[in-house]
Amino acid sequence: MPNELIHKELRINSYGSYLRRRFGCRVSKVNVDGGFTCPNRDGSRGTGGCIYCDNSSFSPKGTEAIIPIEAQMADGMAYHRTRLHSSKFLVYFQKFTNTYGPVDKLSDLYRRALDHPDVLGLSIGTRPDSVSDEAIELLTELARDYYICVELGLQSMDDGILDSINRGHNLAEYLDTVERLAGRGIEICTHLIYGFPGETRAGFLKTARLISELPIDSVKLHQLHVVEGTRLAELYRSGTFTPISIDEYVGTICDFLEELPPQITIQRLYGSAPLAIRVAPNWDLKNNQMWYRIVNELRRRGSWQGCRLEAGERRVVNGESV
Ligand code: SF4
Repeated sequence: MPNELIHKELRINSYGSYLRRRFGCRVSKVNVDGGFTCPNRDGSRGTGGCIYCDNSSFSPKGTEAIIPIEAQMADGMAYHRTRLHSSKFLVYFQKFTNTYGPVDKLSDLYRRALDHPDVLGLSIGTRPDSVSDEAIELLTELARDYYICVELGLQSMDDGILDSINRGHNLAEYLDTVERLAGRGIEICTHLIYGFPGETRAGFLKTARLISELPIDSVKLHQLHVVEGTRLAELYRSGTFTPISIDEYVGTICDFLEELPPQITIQRLYGSAPLAIRVAPNWDLKNNQMWYRIVNELRRRGSWQGCRLEAGERRVVNGESV
């Protein structure tokens, strides 16, 4: 049976439930644009960015750096108060690389966000190669009084894949940054994508084992999708890249969750892009519809997050133990 962290009908330790347990109320994440760029675009680590990246595909309207973050927060909070009846908030620095800048700038932005009485903390999206020791000291100080989560984009643990998608960092840099962040009261989230060219299910499932051995608190997963204006769109149109099927995605994510320790919370299971720039795949699902599809598959299997670890079972995929 699922352990106490996982409701037996939900089958997954959702991040939303975790926040409710931890803070005793409904907590929403409010996106802001802090005016950062990305070292994989400005030339310091690379140019052109990751082959799938178009930041407009993951940036809600109304979060533009030209607008003071206090105004961005006010808009986001009003939306979530009305729509979800949330009373407390985490400010999510999402767009580009949100630790990539002088520590004075980081301190100013983070402290302004935390200044609001209904803000419980921050989520900060960044790359593993862009978290300086000075930034970690700042986050450590803030974490003494607030909830602080650093969201590290790993995407794949395979250096060959990271190279082929022009990611501009490797697994060793991710492991180093996790080690430097650990034990400081800062939560660590890892972003992963499934469906890269040449990626296998067995290869992706190894990531669950890696995450299990690290001090990771939560994960965000989504399928590789193609949006307009990216190198991946060119590869798709030339027939060089074929997106995975929805059944392959759901099956692999269920396998992944079965291998993932139950204490790690799940922040996301699906990625979507605005219709105007979405190229493929066209699954036409909302986030919660994908979530329930995965939960239903776990229910059909009679399984849940971490069940294979609890059973001590080793899984063989495509002839390879993972
Ligand atoms: S690291 Fe993020 S923001 Fe930078 S190019 Fe890649 S996906 Fe885009």
